[in-house]
Amino acid sequence: MGWESNVRRVIPYTPGEQPQQSGIIKLNTNENPYPPSPAVIQTLREFDSASLRLYPDPEAKILVNALAETYGVKSSQVFVGVGSDDVLSIAFMTFFNGNKPVLFPDVTYSFYDVWAEVHRIPYRVVPLTEDFRINADDYRQVNGGIIFPNPNAPTGVMETLALIEEVIKANPDSVVIIDEAYIDFGGMSCLSLLPKYDNLLVVQTFSKSRSLAGMRIGFAIGSEKLIQYMNDVKFSVNSYTMTNLSCLCGAAALRDADYFRTTVQKIIVTREAAKQRLTELGFTFPDSYSNFIFASHPDKEASLLFEELKKRKIYVRYWNKPRIDQSLRITIGTPEQMEALYAALAEILKK
Ligand code: PMP
Repeated sequence: MGWESNVRRVIPYTPGEQPQQSGIIKLNTNENPYPPSPAVIQTLREFDSASLRLYPDPEAKILVNALAETYGVKSSQVFVGVGSDDVLSIAFMTFFNGNKPVLFPDVTYSFYDVWAEVHRIPYRVVPLTEDFRINADDYRQVNGGIIFPNPNAPTGVMETLALIEEVIKANPDSVVIIDEAYIDFGGMSCLSLLPKYDNLLVVQTFSKSRSLAGMRIGFAIGSEKLIQYMNDVKFSVNSYTMTNLSCLCGAAALRDADYFRTTVQKIIVTREAAKQRLTELGFTFPDSYSNFIFASHPDKEASLLFEELKKRKIYVRYWNKPRIDQSLRITIGTPEQMEALYAALAEILKK
């Protein structure tokens, strides 16, 4: 077809499966196994549905202000979006706009190369070390921007604040984005570096630690200048990204700091137990500071384990990609879900 020569062709990101049948133990997309805060449930109950007649606040002030208060920054330093995927996509569009390649690790969130492709951004992948770590010296090369998650996905590996600062310091002419989707599960946030670097953008999400994946709330915090540039792009694409309902729910989740701390702590305790149990089953994995463990087994192909678990209605994540095709990314569920996982793995490994 002639018109097809004008089509923007991309190989899309493949999200983890969201099976619609019941009875599944879902450990494949790093969701929180616990429900959102009761404060969120209350907000949903009290929501004035007649207000849906109106467009929402294009500046999402309720949520932006709540985030500014929670993280001790100015409202003008906060940008919100429809999940951090939306925030990251806009950040790619806004900041990675030169001719030099954007740098990110070879083993990382598999959306980065998709955004680079769809936004026509040149990029270069930088191999992680043998044990999946970042070498700061690898980021002392010509680039048009830098992004990586900390802790990294799908490995769960956490880099130090010192390493991150080294990368930012070495790149004053690039925007450096640190994707902190999993930071609340034990990592050290680099938000503390913001006063020193106006080229640092920190991106976080409500999808994991705040149990709101379904509400789609993500945010970025950075210098006022960075946030202004992102807003200019956002308001050039879609003014009304956040519904009032999602802003209210997000603000309610932030207010309930006790619930947040308690659920995160439960997941950390379950994760530490999982490290022990998976080790007993013969698995190895890089030490995880996130709500998942990236495990491989010396005796069984990861693809086989993945299929066998699926037959038993336990979903984990598997990628048939170089360097990671012998590992499963297992989201930390409730202790009960994890017991079912260990029992299934023990049975499969016996065969
Ligand atoms: N960054 C990383 C590293 C992730 O793993 C995810 C979850 N898929 C996201 C960002 C996006 O999450 P969300 O859009 O739900 O905020």
